[in-house]
Amino acid sequence: TKACLTAIEGADALGAFVHNTPQIATAQAEAADTRIKAGDAPAMCGIPLGIKDLFCTKGVPSQAASGILEGFKPEYESTVTSQLFDAGAVMLGKLNMDEFAMGSSNETSVYGNAVNPWKLGDKALTPGGSSGGSASAVAADLCLAATGTDTGGSIRQPAAFTGITGLKPTYGRVSRWGIVAFASSLDQAGPMTKDVRDAAIMLQAMCGHDAKDSTSADLPVPDFEAALTGDIKGKTIGIPKEYRMDGMPSDIEKLWADGTTMLKDAGAKIVDISLPHTKYALPAYYVIAPAEASSNLARYDGVRFGNRAKLDAGDGITEMYEKTRAQGFGPEVQRRVMVGTYVLSAGFYDAYYNRARRVRTLIKQDFDTVFADGVDAILTPATPSAAFGLGEDMDPIEMYLNDVFTVTVNLAGLPGIAVPTGLDQQGLPLGLQLIGRPWEEADLLNVAYSLE
Ligand code: GLN
Repeated sequence: TKACLTAIEGADALGAFVHNTPQIATAQAEAADTRIKAGDAPAMCGIPLGIKDLFCTKGVPSQAASGILEGFKPEYESTVTSQLFDAGAVMLGKLNMDEFAMGSSNETSVYGNAVNPWKLGDKALTPGGSSGGSASAVAADLCLAATGTDTGGSIRQPAAFTGITGLKPTYGRVSRWGIVAFASSLDQAGPMTKDVRDAAIMLQAMCGHDAKDSTSADLPVPDFEAALTGDIKGKTIGIPKEYRMDGMPSDIEKLWADGTTMLKDAGAKIVDISLPHTKYALPAYYVIAPAEASSNLARYDGVRFGNRAKLDAGDGITEMYEKTRAQGFGPEVQRRVMVGTYVLSAGFYDAYYNRARRVRTLIKQDFDTVFADGVDAILTPATPSAAFGLGEDMDPIEMYLNDVFTVTVNLAGLPGIAVPTGLDQQGLPLGLQLIGRPWEEADLLNVAYSLE
C-alpha cells in the first residue's frame, strides 16, 4: 500500500486517479495487517486497489467523472466495494473514466482524460474507455488491481489497450447496487487485473447474490481459482466468421491466428462457427444503451441528485432543469440522452427501440445455438486496433466502431474476458477476447489461463 501511494503521487501525468484516499488506505492496510497476523487472511487481504469513480464509496467523492455530480459523497457503499473491503482489500482512491461510462477513450471525463502508460514514440495514447483510469493504473503499477464496469466493452477494450486482463462476468453475477447506472440491462462490474489468476481471485470477492439488486442471480459461486488447471483438452473453441471484418489490421489477424494455435496446441478442438446477426449488434446497442441511459439519467435534475445550476431572477422550474442539465452533462452524455429520448418517444418506439430489442434476442439466440452445438468458448479479437492517439477528435460513429467485438457479449448477457496476448508491429499491446457460456466464468477463466 505504501509503495502504491508513493507511485500514485509521482504519476499525476497519467491522470488515472481522480481522488486519492491515503488515509482510508492506511487504515485498511493496518486492519489487514492485523488480520494477517491473526491468521485470518482472505485472498484479497491487504491488496491495494483502485476503484472506478462509477462505484459509490461511502463518504468519498463518487462523481462518475461528471460535472453534474460534483461534490457528491454517497451515504452508502456499493455492494462490490463493500464485499471487497470485507475481504480485506484496500482502497487507494477513485479512478478516472468516461463520463457516466459513456465512451471508448476516457476523453469524455470531466477531469480530462487518463493516459495510457504505453506510448508510441512521443505520442500519447488513450488507455481506452470507459474504464481508462482503471486500465492505466493497473498497467502502470499504481495498484495491484482495479474495479471496472462494462456496458458495451468498457472493461475489455481498455484492458486490451494497456496489456492487462479484464473480465466482464455474466449479467447478474455481480451486484449492481451502488454503481451509478448507465444502461441497467447491460451494466456489469468486473475485475481488471495483471493476470487471469488475479481476475479469478478478485471476481470471487466481488460476486454473489445480493438482495438489493433484483437482477443479481441467486446461484452457487464456484471456486474460480481452483478452476485454473490449465487443462483444456477436449474443450471446443468456436471461431466466428462474422468477426473477420474487412480491412482488419494484419496484426490483429495474426494475433487471432496465433491464439487459435495456442489453444489447439493445448488440446482444444477448434471449430468454425457462425453468429449471423453480429452485424446488427452495434446499431442495436447504440439504440438500447442510450434509451436506458436517458431514463437512468433523468434523476439528475438539480433536486434529487446533482448540482443545481445558478439561476437568474424569474427562472422557473423548467429553466432550472434545463440549465442544470445543460451545464452539468458533457456533450457525449447529452447526445446519448437525446438519442435515447428520441428512440423511446411515442412515434419512434416501435421503429427503433422495439426493433433493437428484437435484434438483441436474435443475437442471444445465435450464441445459444452454438453453445447447444457443444461450443465451450468463442475466441475473437478484443478490439479492432491497438490503442489510438489522444485528441484525434473522432466523430461519434468512428468512436462507436471501437466496440464492434465487445457489445454482442453485453447484449447476450454472457461472460467475456480480454487477455493480453501479444504486441503489434509498433510494440503496442493487443488482446484477445474469449466469450463463455452463461455462469461458466470458471471454465472461461481456465481457457483464458491457457492463453497467457
Ligand atoms: N464504449 C461503449 C459506450 O460508449 C461502452 C461503454 C461501457 O461499456 N461502459 O457506450
